Amino acid sequence: MELKRKIALLTLPFVSAVTGQAALAQNMAGDPPPVIDVHVHAGDFSANAPMCPNAAQFLASDPADGPEAPFGWSKEGCTPALYPAAKGQYRAEVLAEMKRLNVTAVVFGEVDQVKAWAAAAPERVIPGTAFKSVVSPDQAEQLKRMEVAFTKDGFKVMGEIGLQYEGISPSDMRAEPYFALAEKLDIPVAIHMGTGGSGRANVSSPKFRGSMGNPLLLEELLARHPKLRVQVMHAGYPMAENMLTLLQASSHVYVDIAGLIWSYPRKEVNRYIQRLVDGGFGDRIMYGTDQLAWPGLMAYSIGLIQNADYLTPEQKRDILYNNAARFLRIKK
Ligand SMILES: [Zn+2]
Repeated sequence: MELKRKIALLTLPFVSAVTGQAALAQNMAGDPPPVIDVHVHAGDFSANAPMCPNAAQFLASDPADGPEAPFGWSKEGCTPALYPAAKGQYRAEVLAEMKRLNVTAVVFGEVDQVKAWAAAAPERVIPGTAFKSVVSPDQAEQLKRMEVAFTKDGFKVMGEIGLQYEGISPSDMRAEPYFALAEKLDIPVAIHMGTGGSGRANVSSPKFRGSMGNPLLLEELLARHPKLRVQVMHAGYPMAENMLTLLQASSHVYVDIAGLIWSYPRKEVNRYIQRLVDGGFGDRIMYGTDQLAWPGLMAYSIGLIQNADYLTPEQKRDILYNNAARFLRIKK
């Protein structure tokens, strides 16, 4: 997710129901089974209102009506709403939830920010960081910073790579040096593909292009780097057919269901996950939140998987833990 989308998210004032009741019940009986969230953001994003996940609609707007809201979600009542962390408490509250729910997370952000998370919970944080804009002139400095993070500071994933928010394809040669470095260092890359703009990219993210989230745009990059491991963040939603085509074509490609899991209608989210599973890719789907404000989002979104009646218990464990453990080469 990119900053503009984050800012847009921080003002949304609504909600729907469901808690992580399954996870909660397990917790009361002892440690719940381990979960890996492959998509958490460091930093303190102060949201000012509760959030209602899985809103049912993205509403139209008219530029003639004056300033347009930067997001299009319909305002709905829901119980319980997801409340933002108290000011200055985002990291502490998210880490407390991770402990309660037995979650390990890949945490993305600036190197120093992520190091602070890892210092606070070294056993639960897998550090990730990425280059900034590919059109900025300081490529040599950014490459150096990446190399130090991955070779000396223990960072494990290059992400979140937000080329789509710049209107740039992941196979664009301007991004090539970073992906070449990742392949050379054997570091997986996590690339934002698909979702974005919260129904109002025209208002909030003018450089964003839906077309640059087409999963098939990764094919040339993958051809140039046959050993590169790729996490398609947000699972290329809603381009299921192109996502399935890419998964068929490359066994080094996994997807995460972060962001998608709470920012689109619930029935649609389940249908999309089911489509990928039914397509034969149940071992490539990784649970994630895109956590950036609401500590309760973790239990809520684990609950969505736990309550999915189209998944077997084994498929749920694959999505919540096993697939990410394999992708990240976590030793048992
Ligand atoms: Zn993203």
